Amino acid sequence: MESQQRTEIASLGEFGLIDHLTRNNETLNAGTLLSVGDDAAVIDHFGKQTVITTDLLLEGIHFDLAYTPLKHLGYKAVAVNLSDLCAMMATPTQITISIGISNRFSVEALDELYEGIYAACHRYEVDLVGGDTSTSLKGLVISVTAIGEVLTDQFITRSGAKEHDLICVSGDLGGAFLGLQLLEREKRIFEENPGVQPELSQHVYPIGRLLKPEPRTDIVAFLQEQKIVPSSMIDISDGLSSELLHICKKSGVGCVVYDDKIPIHPESKAAADELNLSAITCALSGGEDYELLFTIGQADYEKVITNPAITVIGYITPAEQRALLQTKAGPTHPLTAQGWNAFQ
Ligand code: ADP
Ligand code: MG
Repeated sequence: MESQQRTEIASLGEFGLIDHLTRNNETLNAGTLLSVGDDAAVIDHFGKQTVITTDLLLEGIHFDLAYTPLKHLGYKAVAVNLSDLCAMMATPTQITISIGISNRFSVEALDELYEGIYAACHRYEVDLVGGDTSTSLKGLVISVTAIGEVLTDQFITRSGAKEHDLICVSGDLGGAFLGLQLLEREKRIFEENPGVQPELSQHVYPIGRLLKPEPRTDIVAFLQEQKIVPSSMIDISDGLSSELLHICKKSGVGCVVYDDKIPIHPESKAAADELNLSAITCALSGGEDYELLFTIGQADYEKVITNPAITVIGYITPAEQRALLQTKAGPTHPLTAQGWNAFQ
């Protein structure tokens, strides 16, 4: 995972390390008035409103370095925060990165992490404007804060869904969870028999979904272009059921979702079959897909279906009807929040 050369962090010191990690840092946004190098960054949103979100990633809890390349980890740490901004219909503009590192990591390893961080920054045109660097006794800790902007009062919350609204989802679901199951399986095989090479070439898609999620800035742009204003929106980090229940609770509504409408990629379905799992269950309860879940008024139906990356999966009902999964076979089931739980 690490390149040949190993430079000890101690040889640079904290300030030398920060300088090293940010030596090529450039800013793209006019609003980034002051970036890395002072006590704080200064950002101007030129009259727009500021949207801010933060996430903490702990080794052994949120990621496993046995199968997560550091470059992917850096990219993902940024991507998941940008996804939260997308879920508000905000445009990402800046991030800060804080890391806790032990001497287990070399400067070269941190370079890989930052390569992924900068790759995500370039791709999504956000500026890295600061952070913090500290020693950690054991695991790697990464905290990302992402900042974005919206036109005044144009942010979308979880609380505006109304009866008869249509429930939409971007992309496809369950892939990241299945990718995780495949990697966990290969890790177990490798631990029992280190000679065996992992056989994952047929599962590039679900593994990619886990290791390299992309925030759906394209969906936000599409909705803006089409002048579709969702009544509520959330990103799918813990599984479709859990996110739907958040919208229902916050909006004071119920919902019906059709199991045969839930978008599942063929390679995710193949992985589920191989692992003896239900692909629908993985879509409902598996986390980390980072797709957008949102509700729209029925008047926007014709516009929304012109985008092949968006699927209408159900509709909003009165609160008394609760949240239901309508199966193709006939019976309905209450949706339950079996979302991924960091404390399990
Ligand atoms: P302070 O003592 O005020 O916390 P630091 O020495 O921690 O200052 O940080 C100096 C500058 O480097 C600040 O602009 C800070 O935001 C930035 N910085 C610190 N650590 C990181 C990091 N890991 N990645 C990016 N920028 C960092
Ligand atoms: Mg500091």
